[in-house]
Amino acid sequence: MEQLVTIKTFTYPHEAYVIRGKLESEGIRTFLKDEMTVQVHNFYSNAIGGVKLQVPSEDVERALIIIDSVKEIPHEVVVFSKRELDGTNTCPFCHSENISRTRKANWLTLIPYLIVGFIFPVFKNSYICFDCGKEWRVKK
Ligand SMILES: [Zn+2]
Repeated sequence: MEQLVTIKTFTYPHEAYVIRGKLESEGIRTFLKDEMTVQVHNFYSNAIGGVKLQVPSEDVERALIIIDSVKEIPHEVVVFSKRELDGTNTCPFCHSENISRTRKANWLTLIPYLIVGFIFPVFKNSYICFDCGKEWRVKK
C-alpha cells in the first residue's frame, strides 16, 4: 500500500496550489488534505491546522528539495482593513515610507490569482516594504 506523507502545511489553499503546481510540473503526484474544509471555513484555517500537502513517501526527499528551491513562496501576508491603516502610506510594521504595491508578473504569483481569484476577491491590493521585507494586503 502506498504511504502518503505530509510535507508541508499551509494556512490558505492558494499557497498550497502554488507548491502543488511546482511539484506536479516536476512529476511528483500530490494530494491535498482538508482542502475543502479550509475553503469553506477559511477563517478557521489555523485552528484546524490548515491545508496539508502530501506526497508518496518515496518522493518526500525530492519534494522537499523542490520546495526549498522555491524562494518566492508568499509566506505570511498580513491583511489590514483600510481603517486600520488610517489612510497613511507607510509600512504598518516599521513605518517606513519605502513601500510599493506588488505587481509581480511571474507564474508563481499569477497562477494562484487566476485559480482562486474567486475565493479571495477582496485581497487584491498587495504591498511590500523594502526596509523590513514584510508583505501585507489591504481589504477594501
Ligand atoms: Zn517595513
